[in-house]
Amino acid sequence: MECIFCKIIKNEIPSQLIYEDDYTMAFLDIAPVLPGHVLVVPKKHVATLGAMDDVILCHTMNTVQKIAEAMKEALGARGYNITINNGEAAGQLIDHFHLHVIPRHKKEELDLWAQGKYETGEAESIAKKIKAKL
Ligand code: AMP
Ligand code: ZN
Repeated sequence: MECIFCKIIKNEIPSQLIYEDDYTMAFLDIAPVLPGHVLVVPKKHVATLGAMDDVILCHTMNTVQKIAEAMKEALGARGYNITINNGEAAGQLIDHFHLHVIPRHKKEELDLWAQGKYETGEAESIAKKIKAKL
């Protein structure tokens, strides 16, 4: 079955389209975390961030910036959250790379995540592992 976002891009299923250029599209999320929640997608089907090429990634981030700032002004928001659920383990449901742009009016309207603590030496060890792969 073809991906839902590819169908939206090809206009085969409807969306509340906000913006479109040669590389990207932005439309309202059908089930908003808060009203005005927008999804920004590359037009080319790419599943995850790691598979994005540099040029398309730059265009996609430019669109995110454009949409986020316009949304802030249009909706009187005082900030915004930008989220990527990348991979099934991170909650990615639709296998077409996308960024969520969510307008924010106040901190209390949304709990993002609980934060934890490192054991002694754990942070150093994790930082070292990640650095070794760069
Ligand atoms: P994710 O968990 O990051 O893969 O999120 C996928 C998002 O796509 C969810 O927030 C859904 O509400 C949204 N979504 C699914 N189908 C549609 C659709 N037809 N139009 C707009 N948004 C959609
Ligand atoms: Zn797709």
